[in-house]
Amino acid sequence: MNTNIVIVGGGASCISFIDALLKKNLQEKLNELSLTVLEKSKEIGPGNAYFSDLKSNLLNTKAGYITVFKDHPGDFYHWLECNEYKWKSDFPELEITRDTYAPRALFGMYMKDAFSAICTEARRSGIQVKVIRDEAVKVEQIKKDQINVVTQNGTVIVAEKVVLACGTQQQSAVLPPYSHDIIHSPYPTRELKQKVLAEESVAIIGARLSAIDATIGLIEGGHTGPITIYSRSGYFPFVRGIQGRYKNAYLTPDYIAEHCPALDFYKLGDLYQQERERYRAQSESSYFEELPLPNQPIRDLEAFLEKELAMAKQDRGWQAILYDTNSGIDQIWDRLRADDQERFMKEFFSSAMSLRVSIPAENAEKILGYLRSGQLKFVAGASSVKVEDGQLMVQCNDSSTPTGKVIYATGSPKSLSQIDSPLVRNLIESGTSVENKFGGLDVCKHDYGLFCKDGQMNTSIFAIGELTSGRFLFTSALDIIVRHAHACADSVEKFMIEHDYSLSLAKS
Ligand SMILES: Cc1cc2nc3c(=O)[nH]c(=O)nc-3n(C[C@H](O)[C@H](O)[C@H](O)COP(=O)(O)OP(=O)(O)OC[C@H]3O[C@@H](n4cnc5c(N)ncnc54)[C@H](O)[C@@H]3O)c2cc1C
Repeated sequence: MNTNIVIVGGGASCISFIDALLKKNLQEKLNELSLTVLEKSKEIGPGNAYFSDLKSNLLNTKAGYITVFKDHPGDFYHWLECNEYKWKSDFPELEITRDTYAPRALFGMYMKDAFSAICTEARRSGIQVKVIRDEAVKVEQIKKDQINVVTQNGTVIVAEKVVLACGTQQQSAVLPPYSHDIIHSPYPTRELKQKVLAEESVAIIGARLSAIDATIGLIEGGHTGPITIYSRSGYFPFVRGIQGRYKNAYLTPDYIAEHCPALDFYKLGDLYQQERERYRAQSESSYFEELPLPNQPIRDLEAFLEKELAMAKQDRGWQAILYDTNSGIDQIWDRLRADDQERFMKEFFSSAMSLRVSIPAENAEKILGYLRSGQLKFVAGASSVKVEDGQLMVQCNDSSTPTGKVIYATGSPKSLSQIDSPLVRNLIESGTSVENKFGGLDVCKHDYGLFCKDGQMNTSIFAIGELTSGRFLFTSALDIIVRHAHACADSVEKFMIEHDYSLSLAKS
């Protein structure tokens, strides 16, 4: 089977990439264009973040601000208003405003429609779109602009360009006999009820959003046994305040490129202070909460959340400033001195993520309630899981605690060796791709082409999304995903047109 472009993964990156391609009229420039989307899961559009699951898994972006279409801000909210007949029966109790943190599964319904809409629009523009429900297991470069994509079912798709938009990757699964007791991902959280007995003790490894989803999912699903969250860094997500959006003037790639020949932590601190002053000057209130840089592990999560919930009733300007760095975080990261980058990854990454990826107050209230009832405990420190005399144990801070089940809620592993993906394994083993020093596939920061073993950038195989987070520091927000998908479409267009031009020269 032949196609111009294969997109591996039918989630947000894919939708946004097709949207960007449509704006380029590439089918007219090349006389034809065909796309093939490969998606291994049952649902197309929602991806790993927004598939149908428990209603307690919330978006961490307000309904009025989130969209998969770059040129349609607020598209999700618009969809909610126009399509109430589609979602109201599944979410009868939900009253939505622009400020609601909606269930991610509801956003997933929007994403399914977005996928259908973009495919319809593509077909209307004369672009053939084929969707195949299968897993890509191998991407082989046969020659320049001939890539074979091999699927698990043995289909071979011959393409000119391939875009890897595979999203979050799972940890390698635990092998029997403990595969029933050690759960390598909390998702789908609705299935945890079948995997964990209601009265069993549960250890959750990890303390970011997926750990919170797992805890709330279990307890709201009727779990009565004790749950312990183990946080390696000892940090926990901060809670979202009530502030609106803010547009940075200093912490932006353009300002930094013009005014900061060398960027280090000190300079970043100065820029933040300038931004803070500007925010204050624009704000109606004289109150400004200082950046609560976490510098030591949380010992008392109850006290932390009580304080956080009180702070979250107010405008948290630092969150608005940090959020706006989404529009250029990769470029700011790229300008940071190499030794500060290393230090950031080793010493500050976890604390920065706890600030940056905050949670809605609604979920923080629930976690606080579970802590107060004594059902939930929080332990700071590196933990390891082992089996002693047939009993599953979690070792942390020199003590060993027996547990009935372990749930890994650690997100996409940074190191490729821990990822459970034949495709990624093949890419690395064949030398088609190499690992970035901060994890994930190494791609060109401008063109998104994979760097291969000999250091060359591939102009036929591209990657966007979570697999490239080592290169771009942070990709886990939809607005960042959309930005990268559009930039990648620019690059794919550039290399397709170049190739087409050189072919026509060769023919003439
Ligand atoms: C649990 C979770 C919650 C999040 N919540 C938010 C939020 O509230 N707000 C926000 O802004 N951002 C959030 N994010 C960030 C999120 O990553 C992006 O918003 C976005 O959904 C990522 O899109 P993607 O297409 O790159 O990846 P995904 O949405 O993960 O899609 C990738 C798709 O590729 C498929 N796939 C993978 N490998 C293969 C293969 N080999 N062959 C075929 N198909 C394959 C997968 O099945 C999946 O459907 C969240 C992320 C996660 C993981």
